[in-house]
Amino acid sequence: MSNILVCARFRPLSSKERRNQEDSVCIRCIDSETFILKDEKEDDFTFSFDKVFYEESEQADVYKFLALPIVRGAILLAVWNCSTGCSLLWLNIVTFMCIPRSISKLCLQTGAGKTYSMEGPGILECDEQKNGLLPRVVEGIFHSIRSSDEVIQYSVKLSMVEIYMEKVRDHFDLSKDNMQIKESKLQGIILPGVTEITVLEPAEALQSLSSGIVNRTVGETQMNMVSSRSHCVYIFTILQELCRHRRVKSGKLVLVDLAGSEKVEKTAAEGRIFEEAKTINKSLTALGNVVNAVTCGLQGKLNHIPYHDSKLTRILQDALGGSSRTALLCCCSPSTSNASESLSTLRFGVRVKHIKASPCVNNSENKCVRRHGTPSTTKDESCERIL
Ligand code: ADP
Ligand code: MG
Repeated sequence: MSNILVCARFRPLSSKERRNQEDSVCIRCIDSETFILKDEKEDDFTFSFDKVFYEESEQADVYKFLALPIVRGAILLAVWNCSTGCSLLWLNIVTFMCIPRSISKLCLQTGAGKTYSMEGPGILECDEQKNGLLPRVVEGIFHSIRSSDEVIQYSVKLSMVEIYMEKVRDHFDLSKDNMQIKESKLQGIILPGVTEITVLEPAEALQSLSSGIVNRTVGETQMNMVSSRSHCVYIFTILQELCRHRRVKSGKLVLVDLAGSEKVEKTAAEGRIFEEAKTINKSLTALGNVVNAVTCGLQGKLNHIPYHDSKLTRILQDALGGSSRTALLCCCSPSTSNASESLSTLRFGVRVKHIKASPCVNNSENKCVRRHGTPSTTKDESCERIL
């Protein structure tokens, strides 16, 4: 059993923050895992995470620490996995702020570096230094496949959806604009009918991702010129066929870039933007409630965990439910003017760190269900624990 990997990332001060003479950096680095945040009232708060990425950190550092083990896991799982088993691996990029101090009321700060961490300056911009997690994950998947055993045939499929105003939209087929989320015994949470593009090489995957990203709903707020107004979900399914045994096994890697929101008074939100912010905040409140429930002693009592309260929590059910390997990056601004949002984001990260995960793949026809460290397996099922 392990905890969810939780890291914090501070972007450099923005030009707006630098121009504001009353603003300054509110973070003091202690070491690569610990730092002190000074809030507006000059109170000190010490935080420790699995790793802290300060402003000088490179995109490659984030990938290597946070995502590479999960990418390798997705490929290896496909190899280890037997029969019709499936694994679900999640990588979530999030930042949160809560109002007031309870995490049951969440809203999310925009302009903190989530999308930058995920995509970099652009999916098709081949800047080795600035490439975000997505192009690196694509490269990592194909690299692992290329260096694997030749008797194993791999295929990689890609899907991309967004949750906008509580509707799940297929980015590869915009006519599918209100998709259902279902739970399958074998595969966990699934999106029946979602478009899956088979990609044969990294360039093809990046091209597809780029065409999907164009369809993402964005808007301009005072905090961010290109604020993501939807939660964006990238799903890589890796199928492995062992010719000799004619067995198909699969691993799944999911990346989530959450929508941006902020205090309404900070963004001058009105009209549609205001409605979007309300919906985003509602789904984040649901996420806060789920994390509260998972970490407040309701482990094992699945009925008490309100996954069904929003599309976001439903899609994240496997990640938060402990049956997959999950990593979380809490992206924050380093400036004093955003200290209260950063504080809330980091407190949320601390809370998520307490979720116990026990990822496993099944070795039988039945899905292995392991939630919050309370194994619940069906008859004749043998679970393979992933370390
Ligand atoms: P979010 O997705 O959290 O709303 P973005 O990722 O869109 O925020 O980031 C807002 C702005 O900050 C963008 O212009 C982006 O390029 C810049 N930015 C974010 N993180 C970094 C970073 N680590 N290094 C350089 N620029 C960054
Ligand atoms: Mg964004």
